[in-house]
Amino acid sequence: MNIPRRITRANQHDIAITWNDGRECLYPARDLRLACPCASCVDEMTGFRILQPGQIGEGVAPASLELVGRYAIRIWWQDGHSSGIYTFDYLRELCSCRECRG
Ligand SMILES: [Zn+2]
Ligand SMILES: [Zn+2]
Repeated sequence: MNIPRRITRANQHDIAITWNDGRECLYPARDLRLACPCASCVDEMTGFRILQPGQIGEGVAPASLELVGRYAIRIWWQDGHSSGIYTFDYLRELCSCRECRG
């Protein structure tokens, strides 16, 4: 199972995760915000993405992070959005670094 060993702010916007297998992944804030898996961003029944890129500004940034149990993080965004729970598995899927793409 993929578990973050360390979650840090890479800079003002982006989040860096070091995984327990040693992989280091960088998550640009806007990509993470657009990938928010909550029910107001994605239709739970159809998987249709309600949130569109035009709705999110370039400067979006996380205000804070919180661990949810042993399987996910919740991100509080500076735009007030905080209902997204990003599971570790989902975060690994989201990453597009060279190692994650294989
Ligand atoms: Zn990665
Ligand atoms: Zn959301």
